[in-house]
Amino acid sequence: MPHDFLQPLTGSFAMPAGENPTVAMVEAAYRHHGLNWRYMNCEVAPEALGDAVRGARAMGWKGFNCSIPHKVAVIAHLDGLGESAQIIGAVNTIVRRGEQLIGENTDGKGFVKALSEVINPTGKRVVLLGAGGAARAVAVEMALAGAAHLVIVNRNRVRGETVAQLVNDKTPASAEYHPWEITFAIPETTDIVINATSLGLYPHVDATPDIDYATLRPTMVVADGIPNPPLTKLLQAAHQRGCQTVDGLGMLVNQGVIGIKYWTGIDVDAHVMRQALLALEL
Ligand code: NDP
Repeated sequence: MPHDFLQPLTGSFAMPAGENPTVAMVEAAYRHHGLNWRYMNCEVAPEALGDAVRGARAMGWKGFNCSIPHKVAVIAHLDGLGESAQIIGAVNTIVRRGEQLIGENTDGKGFVKALSEVINPTGKRVVLLGAGGAARAVAVEMALAGAAHLVIVNRNRVRGETVAQLVNDKTPASAEYHPWEITFAIPETTDIVINATSLGLYPHVDATPDIDYATLRPTMVVADGIPNPPLTKLLQAAHQRGCQTVDGLGMLVNQGVIGIKYWTGIDVDAHVMRQALLALEL
């Protein structure tokens, strides 16, 4: 059999780049599926982003992820955007389609894919805690996936109102902002509660969103965006209240699954990627 020493290239541009574990899960999937592809973490400074994208073009990269601080800045160097990336205004996955580099946003798509294994978002009423970058992506994708209504709960009013407005203006769903000054009671009609704040992320593992835990009902699904630790204090409390739960590792893994599908056309095994991340013991 002839050898093929020209490996298709993918990777990530970020700064800092050294702490990003995505490489471990993506290369585990490539190996598992016999794909002779590479994924490389690249440390790219903001002022070098244009050169890095031109380099990826010149070398025929199949695609790459962009993380902090490039998710918005990279758009100026691309040829087009997918629907949700356009609405969200940020890109984390770039896909070569023919000669074009197209920006997609898989943050929210990964979340919806993980959630959909437990509950279909169509027609559901959602409480979304947080209004930062992750929450914005989750709000838009939940709305595009058919959620009926979102209550955006956030301390900072401007950020919260901006996300609610985005949903109302750009998607078929409706949304309202709710201030977060006192303990938030989850409305009885809620189907899905999502934590898209940074509360609970390692090393602050004891931090929990300020909600009235007695208002969590067993009919509600509680999802956390925090990938590390996967079993957050919020999810433990939700389990105790009889709720089904979805963890943030599922969101991270499914972003990888969707990115690899964009680049290679192959549906990879999410379990293999999840195990690769868990084996890192971050
Ligand atoms: P941002 O900094 O953009 O947003 C942080 C959000 O958390 C804001 O809404 C902020 O509220 C809120 N927040 C922070 N501290 C508190 C607090 N003490 N009480 C109430 N609200 C608080 O971060 P990102 O949106 O980029 O990321 C948020 C989290 O999502 C991260 O921790 C990250 O781990 C996770 N994430 C997970 C991914 C995955 O694949 N699993 C992908 C991307 C992110 P305010 O606006 O009022 O300041």
